[in-house]
This record gives sequence, C-alpha cells and structure tokens, in this order.
Amino acid sequence: MRSRFLPFAPPCVGPEEAEELLDTLRSNWLTAGPKVKAFESAFGEFVSAPAALALNSCSAGLHSALHAAGVGAGDTVLTTPLTFASTLHAIEHVGARPVLVDLDPSTLNLDADKARQTLAQTPAAKAILPVHYAGQPCQMESLVELCLERNLALVEDAAHALPARDGDRMIGSLAHPDLVCFTSFSFYATKNLTTGEGGMLTGHAEGIAKARTFAQHGLSTPGWQRDAGAGSWDYEVTECGFKYNMSDLQAAIGLRQLEKLPGFHDRRVQIAARYSAAFEAADALEIPRERTGSQHAWHLYVLRLNLDCLRIDRNQFLAELRARNIGASVHFKPVHMHPYYRDRYHWEAQSMPTALSVWPRLLSIPIYPHMTDADVESVIEAVQDILAVHRR
Ligand SMILES: *Cc1c(COP(=O)(O)O)cnc(C)c1O
Repeated sequence: MRSRFLPFAPPCVGPEEAEELLDTLRSNWLTAGPKVKAFESAFGEFVSAPAALALNSCSAGLHSALHAAGVGAGDTVLTTPLTFASTLHAIEHVGARPVLVDLDPSTLNLDADKARQTLAQTPAAKAILPVHYAGQPCQMESLVELCLERNLALVEDAAHALPARDGDRMIGSLAHPDLVCFTSFSFYATKNLTTGEGGMLTGHAEGIAKARTFAQHGLSTPGWQRDAGAGSWDYEVTECGFKYNMSDLQAAIGLRQLEKLPGFHDRRVQIAARYSAAFEAADALEIPRERTGSQHAWHLYVLRLNLDCLRIDRNQFLAELRARNIGASVHFKPVHMHPYYRDRYHWEAQSMPTALSVWPRLLSIPIYPHMTDADVESVIEAVQDILAVHRR
C-alpha cells in the first residue's frame, strides 16, 4: 500500500510557468494585454479555430456564447444531465430554459437520436449544448446535421476535451459556414491545461467579436487597446455585458502550459491504456471505451462499477480507495437531481433513465501527466485489492 496520499487531480506546473509569470509581473502590464493576445493566437492555432477569445472561465465562455448566438428569454436549449452545474447555469443566465436529453450509454454523451426526438416536442428550441464528457468527443457530424436542419446554434462545452479530435477535426475548430457555433474550454486548476482559473472560447470571427464585447462590459474597445499609447481614451457602452476577460498573469501560465500539452496528452493516453489493460478482465468493472476514429482527451478515467458483483456501493469504494491513500472522485451527480433544477422544473430522477442508472456506478480514478509509473501501479493495486476483499 502507498505510504503517501495520491491526490486526485493536482495541477502540473513547473519553472517555465513561474518564469513567464515573473516576466509578466515585471512588465507593468497585468490585465488583458500582449500575453492574452499571444495566448489567444497560439491556442487558436493549436485547435485550428478561426478565432479565439480568452476569458476568466469556461462558464463565462458558455454564457457569452449563448448570448452572442442570440439565445434569450423564452428560448430553450438542449443539453445533457451528466455535467457540471455551470453548463445549465449558462442557459439560465441568458433567461432560457434547459431541456435535458438522456445519454448514449456507451459514451455517456448526449444521445443525438434522443435529441432529435426531444426536438420534435420542443418548438422553442434555439440551441444544443453538448458536453464532451471525460474528454470523449461527441459524434459532431450528427449534431451539426441536426442543428443545420432545425436552424439551431451549437455551443460545445469542451471543458474536458483538450486536446480531442472527432474524426480528423480538432475539438475547437468547429466553424461550419451555415452554423452559429462556439466551443468553450476550461483552464480551471484540475483541467488538462490550467491557468489557475480561465477559459477560451473559439468560433467564427464574427461570433467571437460579439462575445468579446459582451465579456468586456459591452465596451466598444477594450481597455488595453485604449491605453496602449496610440489609442484614444474614448469608448462607447453598447450593451449591458459582463466582466469576463482573462488577465496577462493567467495567459502567461497558459502560454507555457500550451507548449507542454502534447506531452501531457501522450502521458494521459499511456496511463489510460495501462488502466484499461489492468481492469479489462475484472467483471466488477466496466472500463471506458474510446470511440474509434476519434481522439479522447482523457481528462477523466471513469470506471463504472458493476454493483451486482460487489458487496459495497460506490461511495464505500471511494472510502476504501482513500483508506489506501488514493484520491478519487465522482463526475457527476446528474444535474436534474440537484435541488435547484429538480424543484424549478419539477424534474423526476427517472426522467433520465440512463443518467439515473449510471450515476451510482461512476468512479473517477487519478489520471494526470506527472503521475509516475509507480503511482499508476499503486492505483491498480488498490483497486484490485478492494475487488478481492469486497467481491460478492
Ligand atoms: C470544469 C467544468 C466547467 C466549468 O469550467 P470553469 O472554467 O470552472 O467555469 C464546465 N463544464 C464542465 C463539464 C466542467 O467540467
């Protein structure tokens, strides 16, 4: 057994980030400025996005995207129950109503066929907001087709999906000429690339320009352009926006993280493969399967417990891991079971049968680039030990 606790998802930052951060501190420019601009263009290039906007969170990106897509009061937005609350909050914040679509049981992503059925009964639908759960990309072709057919906007929650590919298309590059579409990434401390807190919104140049204004209090020109010597002090307030911009301090960290991202991803792929090889044969476990022809970002490695084979439940399994010095977590309690949404929309737990049945089985185990091989083996050993002791 491990003698030291293995945290579930610590950030992976080093001297390169520290150096770049110091450089920014010494530069006299702390808020959105040259580093944000450089980060936006480097990130945009990395995911092949036509345009990119650096923000202070993925939540801010989802909110700005829905606003820029013209989604508002009286509209409805289709999304998944298996996500973090901020996905649904963004819909509430523009005054629209979330409508949930149950999961595809193989990927745990929003099911495109069920979305089609839901749309038939949802005349006010204005957008679809899929989440690439755990880093496994949704099948975008069918969602794009559905949005084009029904004239809906498509806003991707890509908090987990960096770097991910659907077919040969990077998540973040979505820019169909006839589609209003956006992709929102998270740089929260636990995510595949971190800036402490932060996010990036990608999409068509026109949509990103609208989101940029909204994310800067609705000001016609952002502060750093006005203050950069040649600029004028003058500006106009064009709408009641929010204060959502990223700072140069965050972008400094992000620039260095982005350089490391391909190496980070290679290591995540290795760890996932090692876990899957070790757990494949265990009948008490269902391992995550990568969709063929796509690239999983492996933000999370989510096991599904076959509870029939065990004498303990998922929460006890988590406690047993902790007792063996392994951090673990659960992603997510389905949003329709949280009091705010359950009470506001009178959503029954059973209304999303796949989400309901899968949720007591979900268990995320540690996967991050600076785990050593010994760390990975210690997780495998702990899981196998728990299975040996608590198998039915
Ligand atoms: C982390 C996360 C978010 C929110 O990201 P922030 O940058 O913290 O706003 C949104 N959706 C999902 C699925 C997430 O995991």
